Amino acid sequence: MILLLFIVSIDPRYHTFDEVAYELDSIATHFPFIAHLDTIGYSTCDSLPIFAMKISDSADNEEDEPAALYIGCHHAEEILGIEICMYMINDLINSYTLDSTKTNWVNNQEIWFVPILNPEGHSIVMNGIDTIWRKNKRDNNNNGIFDLDYDGVDLNRNYDFYWSEGGSSDPSSEYYRGPEPFSENETRAIRALCLEQHFVFCNTYHSARTGLGEVVYYPYRWSGGYSPDYPFIREIADSISKRIINDQGNSHYTTLPGVGLDGRARNWLYGVCGIFTYCIEVSQTTIQPGWMVDDICERNLAGAYYLLDRVAGSSVTGCVYDSITGEPLSAEVIIEGYYDPGLPPRQSEPQFGRFRRILSPGSYNIEVHHPDYVPKYYATIAVEQGTPTELNVYLRNKNYTAVFVRPNPGKDIVYIELINPLRITRLKIYDILGRLLRAFDNPTDVVTWDCKDTQNREIPNGIYFIVGETSDENVCQKVVVLH
Ligand SMILES: [Zn+2]
Repeated sequence: MILLLFIVSIDPRYHTFDEVAYELDSIATHFPFIAHLDTIGYSTCDSLPIFAMKISDSADNEEDEPAALYIGCHHAEEILGIEICMYMINDLINSYTLDSTKTNWVNNQEIWFVPILNPEGHSIVMNGIDTIWRKNKRDNNNNGIFDLDYDGVDLNRNYDFYWSEGGSSDPSSEYYRGPEPFSENETRAIRALCLEQHFVFCNTYHSARTGLGEVVYYPYRWSGGYSPDYPFIREIADSISKRIINDQGNSHYTTLPGVGLDGRARNWLYGVCGIFTYCIEVSQTTIQPGWMVDDICERNLAGAYYLLDRVAGSSVTGCVYDSITGEPLSAEVIIEGYYDPGLPPRQSEPQFGRFRRILSPGSYNIEVHHPDYVPKYYATIAVEQGTPTELNVYLRNKNYTAVFVRPNPGKDIVYIELINPLRITRLKIYDILGRLLRAFDNPTDVVTWDCKDTQNREIPNGIYFIVGETSDENVCQKVVVLH
């Protein structure tokens, strides 16, 4: 009997984990101003680091710039996505200061890459143990041994958005969704990064072993309807797919809506975070010969770069502030007609108060809400072709109370305007010696004062104080009366 041991070796054109680690470290060391390397987590079973690289000017600082995310290798065998991420990182670094468009992207945006989300699964493929391995290596039966027929979680079914609707509950399945949503370190690392970085766009790279290749999937269509931003998301998916020439060279990638909701990355990133997320099924199959890799990466660049171009196109962007203190606010921004109350609110981020909403040219009604602030409504905000519409929003705290007097100096009649009149129970007018001259109970929005005291006598020229009383504070405004 002859025992044949097949070790299938992967073409050396494909990066090993160590090569990715070395290359990213080398880039971060040599280009520290535009490349920042992070470890965003460690893989579930083998504790391999999950690297994230940010390409941006002053890369170590968090700036008020739009951010995009590119993810490779949710699925271990789908290694072309790693190559696209590494190719793009190198292209951006090498083009910096030489290519004005790419230099502008790096200077004005934050471009993030997670080239290998699933490093431990990737090692199974690269070691030739199982070149069609898909999952990570979670020890599902807790026997301390890696079992090809039972272990691992499909990371792209582990996100907490309709998690129980997708994948399989059977650990031996290739599509095992895990014991609970976000049970895996890998998906938790992406969750933390997305909640922190407020990406506008994400491309997550896959390759199909059996299903359709060369497709751009976008969120989502299901029995409950469409994603609220569907028309805008779809238009961008079409623009991405048209830019990626297929392997045969006779057409380009196609576009399909993701049908059904489940715990895939694209559904969670969009559904929970509002990130326009595209799942790109690269090439015709998972592992192509090494000689094809550069060409596949080069053709995919145009689709990847479209996102960096598009973020400066038709959209509404601005910051939300407290109108009194100027502090940035995390407030809900609703585009009327493109809103699903069943989804988590789309909020401005807290550090700068920034929101960015990708739209098509047209006219939109926009509401901005915060539980502690008086909401604002903007009717028919125009969005132009190819440029963002700026909309900075100043919200007034519901507790902010004030009185304003006009004209000031006043003559025979002054108008006392109350900010937050419901809180003001009484309005009192004092002279400079603190004598009460006049009082108004339960005042309304604007109180008219004829510059007379309670005995209907005209008051002399001078300085007076108008005090609004609330249950917990007094607000005061000085007025000069000159007859
Ligand atoms: Zn995949």
